[in-house]
Amino acid sequence: MKQLFSALITLFLIIPSPSLHALQPPDQPDLAELSAAPGQSPSAAALVGACNRYNDLNTSIRDGKISKEPARSALKRLLAEVRQRYELAGGRNYTKTDWTFPLAGYDSRAITGGSNKGYIASGYDFYTGNRHGGHPAVDIFIRDRDQDSLDDRANRPVTVLSVTGGIVVALEREWEQGSGLRGGKYLWIYDPANDLLVYYAHNSELLVGLGDMVKPGDAIAKVGRSGFNAHKRRSPTHLHLSVLRVQDGWPLPLNVYQDLAHAKTIAAQ
Ligand SMILES: [Zn+2]
Repeated sequence: MKQLFSALITLFLIIPSPSLHALQPPDQPDLAELSAAPGQSPSAAALVGACNRYNDLNTSIRDGKISKEPARSALKRLLAEVRQRYELAGGRNYTKTDWTFPLAGYDSRAITGGSNKGYIASGYDFYTGNRHGGHPAVDIFIRDRDQDSLDDRANRPVTVLSVTGGIVVALEREWEQGSGLRGGKYLWIYDPANDLLVYYAHNSELLVGLGDMVKPGDAIAKVGRSGFNAHKRRSPTHLHLSVLRVQDGWPLPLNVYQDLAHAKTIAAQ
Protein backbone atom coordinates (compact mmCIF):
# COMPACT_ATOMS: atom_id res chain seq x y z
CA MET A 1 0.00 0.00 0.00
CA LYS A 2 2.79 2.37 0.98
CA GLN A 3 4.61 1.48 -2.25
CA LEU A 4 1.50 2.21 -4.32
CA PHE A 5 1.09 5.54 -2.56
CA SER A 6 4.68 6.62 -3.28
CA ALA A 7 4.30 5.47 -6.89
CA LEU A 8 1.25 7.70 -7.23
CA ILE A 9 3.16 10.62 -5.72
CA THR A 10 6.00 10.06 -8.21
CA LEU A 11 3.52 9.89 -11.09
CA PHE A 12 1.92 13.10 -9.93
CA LEU A 13 5.30 14.84 -9.83
CA ILE A 14 6.36 13.81 -13.33
CA ILE A 15 3.09 14.68 -15.06
CA PRO A 16 3.30 18.36 -15.96
CA SER A 17 0.51 20.25 -14.35
CA PRO A 18 -1.34 22.78 -16.56
CA SER A 19 -0.82 25.38 -13.87
CA LEU A 20 2.92 25.26 -14.54
CA HIS A 21 2.32 27.10 -17.78
CA ALA A 22 1.03 30.03 -15.81
CA LEU A 23 4.49 30.36 -14.25
CA GLN A 24 6.12 31.11 -17.58
CA PRO A 25 6.88 34.75 -18.33
CA PRO A 26 3.66 36.43 -19.54
CA ASP A 27 5.40 38.56 -22.13
CA GLN A 28 6.35 35.89 -24.64
CA PRO A 29 7.29 37.52 -27.95
CA ASP A 30 4.66 37.13 -30.64
CA LEU A 31 5.34 36.83 -34.36
CA ALA A 32 5.18 40.56 -34.96
CA GLU A 33 7.75 41.18 -32.26
CA LEU A 34 10.09 38.54 -33.68
CA SER A 35 9.94 40.21 -37.08
CA ALA A 36 10.72 43.69 -35.76
CA ALA A 37 12.44 45.83 -38.37
CA PRO A 38 15.96 47.04 -37.51
CA GLY A 39 15.71 50.02 -35.21
CA GLN A 40 12.07 49.29 -34.37
CA SER A 41 11.29 48.30 -30.79
CA PRO A 42 9.40 45.03 -30.23
CA SER A 43 6.41 46.89 -28.78
CA ALA A 44 6.23 49.20 -31.82
CA ALA A 45 6.44 46.18 -34.15
CA ALA A 46 3.62 44.42 -32.30
CA LEU A 47 1.49 47.55 -32.58
CA VAL A 48 2.08 47.76 -36.34
CA GLY A 49 1.18 44.06 -36.60
CA ALA A 50 -2.16 44.65 -34.85
CA CYS A 51 -2.88 47.64 -37.12
CA ASN A 52 -2.14 45.55 -40.22
CA ARG A 53 -4.66 42.93 -39.06
CA TYR A 54 -7.23 45.64 -38.36
CA ASN A 55 -6.65 47.10 -41.82
CA ASP A 56 -7.25 43.68 -43.41
CA LEU A 57 -10.54 43.42 -41.49
CA ASN A 58 -11.52 46.96 -42.48
CA THR A 59 -10.86 46.19 -46.16
CA SER A 60 -13.00 43.02 -45.92
CA ILE A 61 -15.86 45.00 -44.37
CA ARG A 62 -15.46 47.76 -46.97
CA ASP A 63 -15.66 45.25 -49.81
CA GLY A 64 -18.58 43.25 -48.34
CA LYS A 65 -16.46 40.12 -47.90
CA ILE A 66 -17.34 39.41 -44.25
CA SER A 67 -20.75 39.20 -42.58
CA LYS A 68 -21.75 41.42 -39.71
CA GLU A 69 -21.37 39.26 -36.60
CA PRO A 70 -17.92 37.81 -37.32
CA ALA A 71 -16.83 41.30 -38.39
CA ARG A 72 -18.12 42.83 -35.17
CA SER A 73 -16.40 40.31 -32.90
CA ALA A 74 -13.13 40.68 -34.84
CA LEU A 75 -13.36 44.47 -34.65
CA LYS A 76 -13.90 44.37 -30.86
CA ARG A 77 -10.96 42.02 -30.37
CA LEU A 78 -8.56 43.90 -32.65
CA LEU A 79 -9.37 47.37 -31.32
CA ALA A 80 -8.87 46.08 -27.75
CA GLU A 81 -5.48 44.75 -28.82
CA VAL A 82 -4.57 48.02 -30.56
CA ARG A 83 -5.54 49.97 -27.43
CA GLN A 84 -3.42 47.76 -25.19
CA ARG A 85 -0.41 47.91 -27.50
CA TYR A 86 -0.83 51.67 -27.99
CA GLU A 87 -0.49 52.11 -24.23
CA LEU A 88 2.51 49.74 -24.04
CA ALA A 89 4.20 51.67 -26.87
CA GLY A 90 3.79 54.95 -24.96
CA GLY A 91 0.77 56.29 -26.88
CA ARG A 92 -0.75 59.32 -25.17
CA ASN A 93 -4.37 60.06 -24.44
CA TYR A 94 -5.96 63.33 -25.58
CA THR A 95 -9.35 64.85 -24.88
CA LYS A 96 -11.74 67.02 -26.91
CA THR A 97 -10.07 70.17 -25.58
CA ASP A 98 -7.00 69.16 -27.66
CA TRP A 99 -8.96 68.74 -30.91
CA THR A 100 -7.64 70.53 -34.00
CA PHE A 101 -9.62 71.63 -37.04
CA PRO A 102 -8.63 69.19 -39.80
CA LEU A 103 -7.65 71.62 -42.59
CA ALA A 104 -4.61 73.89 -42.19
CA GLY A 105 -5.52 77.47 -43.09
CA TYR A 106 -9.29 76.87 -42.76
CA ASP A 107 -11.94 76.89 -40.02
CA SER A 108 -15.52 75.68 -39.55
CA ARG A 109 -16.85 78.24 -42.06
CA ALA A 110 -15.59 75.78 -44.69
CA ILE A 111 -18.25 73.29 -43.59
CA THR A 112 -21.41 73.89 -45.58
CA GLY A 113 -24.52 71.84 -46.27
CA GLY A 114 -27.47 73.69 -44.72
CA SER A 115 -28.69 73.54 -41.13
CA ASN A 116 -27.61 69.91 -40.61
CA LYS A 117 -24.20 70.69 -42.20
CA GLY A 118 -24.60 67.67 -44.48
CA TYR A 119 -24.69 65.25 -41.54
CA ILE A 120 -27.18 62.36 -41.95
CA ALA A 121 -26.76 59.51 -39.44
CA SER A 122 -29.95 57.64 -40.32
CA GLY A 123 -29.49 54.72 -42.67
CA TYR A 124 -25.81 54.35 -41.81
CA ASP A 125 -24.36 50.97 -40.86
CA PHE A 126 -20.56 50.68 -40.66
CA TYR A 127 -20.76 46.98 -41.51
CA THR A 128 -22.28 47.61 -44.94
CA GLY A 129 -18.90 49.03 -45.98
CA ASN A 130 -18.63 50.80 -49.35
CA ARG A 131 -22.42 50.36 -49.87
CA HIS A 132 -23.43 52.23 -46.72
CA GLY A 133 -26.35 54.64 -46.56
CA GLY A 134 -26.64 58.05 -44.89
CA HIS A 135 -23.81 60.59 -44.71
CA PRO A 136 -22.51 60.37 -41.13
CA ALA A 137 -19.94 63.05 -41.85
CA VAL A 138 -19.20 66.68 -42.50
CA ASP A 139 -17.71 67.79 -45.81
CA ILE A 140 -15.10 70.53 -45.51
CA PHE A 141 -14.56 72.46 -48.74
CA ILE A 142 -11.42 74.16 -49.96
CA ARG A 143 -11.13 77.08 -52.42
CA ASP A 144 -10.57 75.15 -55.64
CA ARG A 145 -12.68 76.46 -58.53
CA ASP A 146 -10.50 74.87 -61.19
CA GLN A 147 -10.55 71.50 -59.38
CA ASP A 148 -6.79 70.95 -59.41
CA SER A 149 -6.83 70.14 -55.66
CA LEU A 150 -4.75 73.26 -54.93
CA ASP A 151 -5.94 76.14 -52.80
CA ASP A 152 -6.79 78.93 -55.30
CA ARG A 153 -5.19 81.69 -53.21
CA ALA A 154 -1.99 79.93 -52.17
CA ASN A 155 -1.76 77.72 -55.29
CA ARG A 156 -0.61 74.97 -52.96
CA PRO A 157 -2.10 71.71 -51.64
CA VAL A 158 -4.10 71.93 -48.40
CA THR A 159 -2.76 69.87 -45.50
CA VAL A 160 -5.13 67.55 -43.64
CA LEU A 161 -4.43 67.51 -39.88
CA SER A 162 -5.44 64.89 -37.36
CA VAL A 163 -8.37 66.15 -35.26
CA THR A 164 -7.67 63.72 -32.42
CA GLY A 165 -4.75 61.79 -31.01
CA GLY A 166 -4.46 58.11 -31.86
CA ILE A 167 -3.05 55.65 -34.30
CA VAL A 168 -3.45 54.95 -38.02
CA VAL A 169 -5.36 51.65 -38.17
CA ALA A 170 -6.54 51.53 -41.78
CA LEU A 171 -5.83 53.23 -45.07
CA GLU A 172 -6.01 53.03 -48.84
CA ARG A 173 -3.19 54.58 -50.86
CA GLU A 174 -4.07 53.15 -54.23
CA TRP A 175 -7.01 54.72 -55.96
CA GLU A 176 -7.44 55.28 -59.66
CA GLN A 177 -10.10 56.94 -61.73
CA GLY A 178 -12.75 54.34 -62.59
CA SER A 179 -12.55 52.59 -59.22
CA GLY A 180 -15.94 52.26 -57.50
CA LEU A 181 -14.37 52.96 -54.13
CA ARG A 182 -16.19 55.92 -52.60
CA GLY A 183 -13.57 56.98 -50.05
CA GLY A 184 -10.71 57.13 -52.54
CA LYS A 185 -7.38 57.51 -50.76
CA TYR A 186 -8.55 57.39 -47.14
CA LEU A 187 -7.28 57.06 -43.58
CA TRP A 188 -8.88 55.70 -40.41
CA ILE A 189 -7.37 56.88 -37.14
CA TYR A 190 -8.36 55.13 -33.91
CA ASP A 191 -8.38 57.25 -30.75
CA PRO A 192 -8.05 54.61 -28.01
CA ALA A 193 -8.68 57.05 -25.15
CA ASN A 194 -12.18 57.91 -26.38
CA ASP A 195 -12.93 54.83 -28.49
CA LEU A 196 -13.34 56.90 -31.64
CA LEU A 197 -12.72 55.89 -35.24
CA VAL A 198 -12.02 58.97 -37.36
CA TYR A 199 -12.25 58.71 -41.14
CA TYR A 200 -10.56 61.10 -43.60
CA ALA A 201 -11.59 60.50 -47.22
CA HIS A 202 -10.88 61.80 -50.77
CA ASN A 203 -7.23 62.73 -50.13
CA SER A 204 -4.73 63.26 -52.95
CA GLU A 205 -1.93 61.67 -50.92
CA LEU A 206 -1.36 60.19 -47.49
CA LEU A 207 1.51 61.39 -45.28
CA VAL A 208 1.33 58.64 -42.62
CA GLY A 209 1.40 54.84 -42.57
CA LEU A 210 -0.28 52.00 -40.71
CA GLY A 211 0.72 51.97 -37.04
CA ASP A 212 1.87 55.61 -36.97
CA MET A 213 0.88 57.38 -33.76
CA VAL A 214 -0.45 60.92 -34.18
CA LYS A 215 -1.35 63.81 -31.93
CA PRO A 216 -3.99 66.46 -32.64
CA GLY A 217 -2.72 68.80 -35.37
CA ASP A 218 -0.26 66.37 -36.97
CA ALA A 219 -0.16 66.48 -40.80
CA ILE A 220 -1.65 63.23 -42.12
CA ALA A 221 -2.66 63.85 -45.77
CA LYS A 222 -3.31 66.38 -48.54
CA VAL A 223 -6.85 67.28 -49.64
CA GLY A 224 -7.82 65.75 -52.97
CA ARG A 225 -10.59 64.53 -55.23
CA SER A 226 -10.12 60.75 -54.96
CA GLY A 227 -13.24 58.58 -54.69
CA PHE A 228 -16.08 57.50 -56.98
CA ASN A 229 -18.27 60.60 -56.48
CA ALA A 230 -15.65 63.03 -55.17
CA HIS A 231 -13.81 62.81 -58.48
CA LYS A 232 -16.82 63.89 -60.55
CA ARG A 233 -16.98 67.39 -61.93
CA ARG A 234 -20.14 68.21 -59.93
CA SER A 235 -18.31 67.60 -56.63
CA PRO A 236 -16.40 70.58 -55.18
CA THR A 237 -13.03 69.61 -53.66
CA HIS A 238 -13.44 68.65 -50.01
CA LEU A 239 -12.37 66.52 -47.06
CA HIS A 240 -15.05 64.05 -45.94
CA LEU A 241 -14.68 63.59 -42.17
CA SER A 242 -16.54 61.03 -40.07
CA VAL A 243 -16.22 60.45 -36.35
CA LEU A 244 -17.66 57.18 -35.06
CA ARG A 245 -17.79 56.09 -31.40
CA VAL A 246 -17.35 52.36 -30.91
CA GLN A 247 -19.91 50.87 -28.53
CA ASP A 248 -19.75 47.10 -28.01
CA GLY A 249 -18.27 46.70 -31.47
CA TRP A 250 -20.74 49.05 -33.20
CA PRO A 251 -19.09 52.15 -34.69
CA LEU A 252 -21.86 54.75 -34.32
CA PRO A 253 -21.77 58.19 -35.94
CA LEU A 254 -21.31 61.39 -33.93
CA ASN A 255 -22.18 64.85 -35.15
CA VAL A 256 -18.99 66.77 -34.36
CA TYR A 257 -19.85 70.03 -36.11
CA GLN A 258 -19.99 72.01 -32.84
CA ASP A 259 -16.75 70.43 -31.63
CA LEU A 260 -15.05 71.40 -34.90
CA ALA A 261 -16.37 74.93 -34.55
CA HIS A 262 -14.56 75.15 -31.21
CA ALA A 263 -11.43 73.25 -32.21
CA LYS A 264 -7.99 74.89 -32.48
CA THR A 265 -7.11 76.11 -35.94
CA ILE A 266 -3.68 75.96 -37.54
CA ALA A 267 -2.31 78.28 -40.24
CA ALA A 268 -1.69 77.00 -43.77
CA GLN A 269 1.55 75.02 -44.03
ZN1 LIG B 1 -18.95 63.51 -47.63
